[in-house]
Amino acid sequence: MEPLEQVRPLKQAEPMEQLERIHEALARPEPTPAVERILHKALDGHRLSYEEGCVLMREGDLGSLGLVAGEITRRLHPGGIVTFVQDRNINYTNVCVTDCKFCAFYRHEKDSDAWVLSHEQILQKVGELAASGGTQVLIQGGHHPKLPFDYYTEMCRLIKRHYPQIAIHSFSVSEIRHFARAYKMPVREVVERLREAGLDSVPGAGGEVLADRPRRIIAPLKDPAADWLATYEIIADVGLRGSSTMMFGHVETLEERVEHLLRLREVQDRTAERHGRGVFWSFICWTFQPGNTPLVAEGLHNGVTTSSYEYLRTLAVARIFLDNIENIQASWVTQGVRIGQISLDCGCNDFGGTMMEENVVAAAGTVFHATPSDAIRLIRDAGRVPAKRNTFYEILEIY
Ligand code: SF4
Repeated sequence: MEPLEQVRPLKQAEPMEQLERIHEALARPEPTPAVERILHKALDGHRLSYEEGCVLMREGDLGSLGLVAGEITRRLHPGGIVTFVQDRNINYTNVCVTDCKFCAFYRHEKDSDAWVLSHEQILQKVGELAASGGTQVLIQGGHHPKLPFDYYTEMCRLIKRHYPQIAIHSFSVSEIRHFARAYKMPVREVVERLREAGLDSVPGAGGEVLADRPRRIIAPLKDPAADWLATYEIIADVGLRGSSTMMFGHVETLEERVEHLLRLREVQDRTAERHGRGVFWSFICWTFQPGNTPLVAEGLHNGVTTSSYEYLRTLAVARIFLDNIENIQASWVTQGVRIGQISLDCGCNDFGGTMMEENVVAAAGTVFHATPSDAIRLIRDAGRVPAKRNTFYEILEIY
């Protein structure tokens, strides 16, 4: 592998300055000869190597990457359809024993502002989502040391009993692995029992960057990257699918971002070989939000958020590199709706969830919300055709 180069997030420009810079870059592709050769290879339908991915991640200009990522997206999703899902995030507890240094959300059990939602509170929230026409609930929480496993399985059963139309896209891989440890069960049994209780799909959170050097810095108590990836193979074997993610712009190198993409691509290949389809519905990346996090308090990060320019560049490389993952989702929750719109020109074909409620990113001081009608308007304004989808990427309605 190439020598590691520490990523230094670009200085955060004023929003207007930043938008102008992005529009200028998109209008004027300026590839180096190496980048041009690799992009032609991708456009000819050939898979890129790790080294080629690194060249794009290091040298690729936003204009050239966006152009090619956009073309690949048009080939994969003709007709200009951009999907979104009407969903709600529910965080059942902020109590966590894992102390990730990038997280502003968690509390310890004895903290005065620690909380756990009751099943009644969760059902009420799901009921509000169902009443508004939503189709998916994304339930996640901290790694609580004492809640019984029944708390989770009963939660799923109750939701399915009262709101069978709501898909449960819930519990990150790191929660699943925490359950296995806490309740002394094999990971496979945890996934099987959650599936029996009603779990429909697993969101990809907890992956951060799937390279062990940065993981040891930002989340020293989380499992190594190989365990996260192996869990998705188990999820596929049990008959479920999920999303893949990457949270970047903290202490990882550009090469480690590509390593992450490579490892996702390998799991997708392996699970497709065994089951006829890869385990990942989609890929979503977002930037580390440094506000109120131990990583900044401990001097491990300078507190500057990675720029939207760098977000879009990384997103475009992901679209080009991940040739076996069909859907790439915009992350307007961290980037804002304008950048969410521009990301449709850089490889995204999905606007993600409208998120009636979001607490984790909000704890770091970043809060963006959209209603379904906002999503429809924003997608239309970006010159695309909005469509509501379900968790399984089936289109429910075209607007
Ligand atoms: S990211 Fe998740 S696992 Fe890590 S401290 Fe926050 S709540 Fe806990």
